[in-house]
Amino acid sequence: MRVLLLFIDGFGLGSNNPEINPIVRFGLHTINQLFDQPMISDIGLNLTPECCMIPIDTTLGVEGLPQSATGQAAILTGLNTAKAMGRHIQAFPGPQLSNIITENNIMKRLTEAGMLVTSANMYTPNYFELVAKRKRRHSAITLAALSTGMSLRSLPEMYINEAVYQDITNVTLPDFGVDHLPVLSPTQAACNLVNISRKYSFTIFEYFQTDRAGHKQDWLHAGRILRLLDEFIGAVYKRLPADTLMIITSDHGNFEDMSVKTHTFNKVPLIALGYRAQETVGAITDLTGIAPAIVAVLGKDDPCD
Ligand SMILES: [Zn+2]
Repeated sequence: MRVLLLFIDGFGLGSNNPEINPIVRFGLHTINQLFDQPMISDIGLNLTPECCMIPIDTTLGVEGLPQSATGQAAILTGLNTAKAMGRHIQAFPGPQLSNIITENNIMKRLTEAGMLVTSANMYTPNYFELVAKRKRRHSAITLAALSTGMSLRSLPEMYINEAVYQDITNVTLPDFGVDHLPVLSPTQAACNLVNISRKYSFTIFEYFQTDRAGHKQDWLHAGRILRLLDEFIGAVYKRLPADTLMIITSDHGNFEDMSVKTHTFNKVPLIALGYRAQETVGAITDLTGIAPAIVAVLGKDDPCD
């Protein structure tokens, strides 16, 4: 069995109002069709053996707006990191939260259990330069990947379709000094992601343009993003191998309410599609349930199945 986790930053379940919610205005047809209704706060619990939608809590019982560093850390570790830190922590983890992530994350645990894990994201040479100059800190997901000892994917992997850039299509790469790679269709990028996931028990891909568009209240970008995500998610789902579970989730709301520049208190979707979907995620209620559920289902996987 394999798990492919598609993490979408700042992607919550909002109101059924096209004036503020781009998911209502533009649609996310792949998901709408699967659940026969738009992806909004009213969607409720949808559970079938191979197709699940669960609205999950991101506040973790801690006051204040949910934030990325603690939210992603909760997804990755299964720990209530906001409670452990005493507050929701924005953007990039500092030393204390980084230690919690590095020691407890799902990628490390699966590696220690003898499984192959990977981050499919491609990092530019510019990214590594900024990190070396201490002008940029790693995200929680990048820290989790690094804790396994893996090398982050970069241009050599991109040349052979063994990586996916954070914007999915490579269209923003020239802004970061990489101007010789072709722009891909979301479907081509999806094929690359699925092909990577065939070689690992656990694959994660991080997408954060949703959070950016939400903070900027950028409707034009939001429309482009939804068309792209719709094609990308649909193409991954269509090509999903029979032994693979695809999980889509987020760390907090943001994108679904363009009336504010901030994150929201909205629940986020936990979507599970494919092999053992309901069995794996059916009992999850908040961000801390995801890592233990994946570890459990991969741990009891019988190689003779
Ligand atoms: Zn944000």
